[in-house]
Amino acid sequence: MTTVVKIGGARAVDPEGALSDVAALVDEGEDVVLTHGGSTAVDETLEELGQDPTYVETPGGVVGRFTDENTMDVFKMVMPGKLNTDLVESLQNLDVNAVGLSGTDGKLLEGKRKSAVRVKEDGKKKIKRGDHSGTIESVNADLLETVLAGGYTPVVSVPVLGKEKEGGYTAVNADADRAGAAIAGALEADLVVLTDVSGIYEDPDDESTKIDSASTPEAFEAVKSAAEGFMTKKVMAAEEALEGGAASVTVASANAETPISSALDGEGTTLEPGVLEDATEVER
Ligand code: ADP
Repeated sequence: MTTVVKIGGARAVDPEGALSDVAALVDEGEDVVLTHGGSTAVDETLEELGQDPTYVETPGGVVGRFTDENTMDVFKMVMPGKLNTDLVESLQNLDVNAVGLSGTDGKLLEGKRKSAVRVKEDGKKKIKRGDHSGTIESVNADLLETVLAGGYTPVVSVPVLGKEKEGGYTAVNADADRAGAAIAGALEADLVVLTDVSGIYEDPDDESTKIDSASTPEAFEAVKSAAEGFMTKKVMAAEEALEGGAASVTVASANAETPISSALDGEGTTLEPGVLEDATEVER
């Protein structure tokens, strides 16, 4: 069984435990694919370059990054550039033969560019053009399986290879949780999403209300209504992963000694395929 691990991009997340855990799992012969976020690092680099990160609000009230051409350049520098290389370097120091891959490499993550976004600005609805973002439609599972079969550990970063309406491709920004979800679905893997909280809490401010697991649509409703803000995106990504064929999704804390093996052993919040309404119809 393959494990796909997504490391959070928040500042409060230290990847050290996760990386030594990847090394331990790989040493035991497990296949691990690592993927990561990095929004905070992109914002910091933009600011160092004297540019303001742009966030827009959709008419539905969801806040997201607007990735103009300059931002996309910085995104490429930071995500598959510095962050990916740092992770590969750390893994090499732990005797893991890691291989960094961007979503654009070998069409690993392919999707569609969506250049016009609906936004709400000063209370008015507008269309904003020139966004470099998109959604993932397919994963080159064969590439990952080939890399894994060679004894390497893939470290995957967004961007994604986005098809333009008028033909051709552009590298586009996509949510890293959803990238992890797409990969876990394609590999029918367990997905472990490591973040700065120890799971999904019934009351977002109270760790003692952590939901341990959900395996029915009813239990999943409770998880969905508990999640606020950024966690909403993780829950949506978890649903996509399970719909895509992932064996399980666990949201757990990155700040632990063995965060991945602990998550696979039941720490955090585990969501099982049974949470899907039509779970019996999912082919695996
Ligand atoms: P990352 O950068 O690791 O991908 P995010 O910041 O996107 O993580 O998401 C994790 C955040 O979600 C937590 O820090 C917390 O503030 C927030 N959150 C919202 N609702 C919940 C909830 N029900 N349980 C736990 N955390 C929640």
